[in-house]
Amino acid sequence: MRSGKIWLVIASFLLVIPSGWGLCSGGQGTWRVEGIPSTLKQGDVFRIRLTADGGGVPSGGFQGEEIVFYSEENGKDYEALMGVDLECPAGIYPLNITVEEGSGVSGRMFQIEVVRAFFGVQRITLPPEMVHLDPQSLKRVKEEKRKMEALWAVRGENRRWHGKFLAPVEGRINAFFGVRRILNGERRGRHNGIDIKARQGEKVLCPNDGRVVMVDELFFGGKTVVVDHGQQLFSFYMHLDRVAVRMDQEIRKGDVIGAVGASGRATGPHLHWGVRLNGVRVDPLSLMEATTNDMETIGIIRKRKYMAEKRKKRTKKGENLGQGGKTLD
Ligand SMILES: [Zn+2]
Repeated sequence: MRSGKIWLVIASFLLVIPSGWGLCSGGQGTWRVEGIPSTLKQGDVFRIRLTADGGGVPSGGFQGEEIVFYSEENGKDYEALMGVDLECPAGIYPLNITVEEGSGVSGRMFQIEVVRAFFGVQRITLPPEMVHLDPQSLKRVKEEKRKMEALWAVRGENRRWHGKFLAPVEGRINAFFGVRRILNGERRGRHNGIDIKARQGEKVLCPNDGRVVMVDELFFGGKTVVVDHGQQLFSFYMHLDRVAVRMDQEIRKGDVIGAVGASGRATGPHLHWGVRLNGVRVDPLSLMEATTNDMETIGIIRKRKYMAEKRKKRTKKGENLGQGGKTLD
């Protein structure tokens, strides 16, 4: 009876797959596009799928960013990944797609509504010196932030990732994406990734193919690895106990990046997993959902997000999310 209820919950999630649909004739052929949602939440990732039967070449734009389409094999089926930032203001945003076929060009405009997500609040108590930094530490933190921001701006790497993104480590999510941090009673920034609780020393696996573009020890993030998956998609891993890769190393899906730890500003062993797509901060769970066709996986991810929403709503009433193995970056 109990498992029947669970399946009913999962099945009900599967019925609400957001999907915009467009069909366009132009140039010498026809093209159609799907996967453009009419509504998105802050931090969401979406996958556009376009078929150009006439062999046209698609391009597009969204929020000032070029939509970079890639073709898997046959030169007529294209896909692109896009996302909206954690703090993207709510509103209506145009998304345009153009297909060039020989001497003809045809285009279509879509409207996407971005709505505010309710991310919740997490109150954490820390030793005061970890909250109010001395000038030297503050300078270090600013330099490290600049260094990471410079990475997201790098353009031109070809797409390295293929298929779905895997979870880098299995475990309970201790702090979801976007949660507002209150440190020692002071309001701070939003959490730019997810914290997965795991045992100290547990292997952290690369969720998809890429190249290592940063190995460093950061003030907040501790031992940190950044992977460039190509086409402005990056993932990063913090608080590691041990790093198993080196700078510029090419890595494959499932390769070991390092081991779970509590380095940097952390109160217990966990993995902080963050993702940047076209420079914007997106939810790693949403990236996993957008890159898989496996309905069972989608069901599990949506259930996790649903549980997160429920948990966050409780915190709206002032309940603390707890302190076991947290995420302090
Ligand atoms: Zn974290």
